[in-house]
Amino acid sequence: MSDTIAFIGVGNMGNPMATNIYKAGYKIKVFDISREMLNKAKENGLETVDNINDLITEKTSTVITMLPEGKHSKKIYLGEDGIINKVSKNCLLIDCSTIDIDTSKEIGKAAENKEILMIDAPVSGGVMGAQKASLNIMVGGSAEAFEKAHPILKIMGKNIYHAGKVGSGNGAKICNNMSLGITMIAASESLMLAKRLNIDIKKVHEIMKNASGNSWPIAVYPPLPGLIEGTPSNNKYKPGFSAGMMNKDLKLANECAKNVNASIPLGEMALNIYSKFCEEGNDTKDFSAISKVIGGDAWDYPIN
Ligand code: NAD
Repeated sequence: MSDTIAFIGVGNMGNPMATNIYKAGYKIKVFDISREMLNKAKENGLETVDNINDLITEKTSTVITMLPEGKHSKKIYLGEDGIINKVSKNCLLIDCSTIDIDTSKEIGKAAENKEILMIDAPVSGGVMGAQKASLNIMVGGSAEAFEKAHPILKIMGKNIYHAGKVGSGNGAKICNNMSLGITMIAASESLMLAKRLNIDIKKVHEIMKNASGNSWPIAVYPPLPGLIEGTPSNNKYKPGFSAGMMNKDLKLANECAKNVNASIPLGEMALNIYSKFCEEGNDTKDFSAISKVIGGDAWDYPIN
């Protein structure tokens, strides 16, 4: 294949996502502002470049971005040196970052003005989902852009959904992650209550997994160690998905709820709990470390 995929942002998620594209036989080049992340990408066999000018050429058929926040996506696509002015009309733009709906729409509009196809395509499933190529991908964009992106998205994910026009992917993702933030706190409350009641946490976890209290944090990503292998709680809460990222997503949920007069009392409470946790210097811990706040003096697990 002579056409090249350009991938920007090879952090916790971007690295395994780009690696899966590489393993599928595509020609792919990656860029990140972090030298450490570029070195990690090289270890996976990925071709790295040191700046965006070396990344985007006339052979670039697709650009995929996996960046932390809206301000990063905006700078990469629309900034002074933005890629919207570098790519050819035939190049497809896929922003997999979880960002605010307005920024997605702004990038989509700028792309449309240049007759370039663009989708927002945030993902769910965590680092493990990215590694196993089992992500859920929520797409906002035209039917034409969705069809064109589908084969590439299918390499990185298992379930690919067309949520609606540009911005709808992030809208769906924000709704999803608000529930995730709330249920992670709920799972922490249940397991830490079991601990204080002197009931074997492993038993309670097994019961909840099969009973009506099940949730993604219980079934896949428990907030306490010793329950499921390979989870951040088993690795001193190294992310995974950081508390800072969850805080960002809960802020996005609260902002857009305000814009449309939606009542989200638990979403508001979850934002308060995560904001405080991050202000206390825990933003780089995995978001499941919120169990420390819930557990208080009964929480005694290794944490970096
Ligand atoms: P991360 O911080 O590990 O990775 C982001 C990468 O982007 C970093 O390596 C950073 O150096 C790079 N970057 C920032 N600005 C850049 C720029 N201008 N040019 C090039 N590279 C730049 O974050 P992550 O956990 O991989 O998350 C990425 C996105 O995916 C976020 O929006 C997050 O909310 C979302 N997400 C994360 C998870 C998860 O479990 N980690 C799950 C689903 C969705």
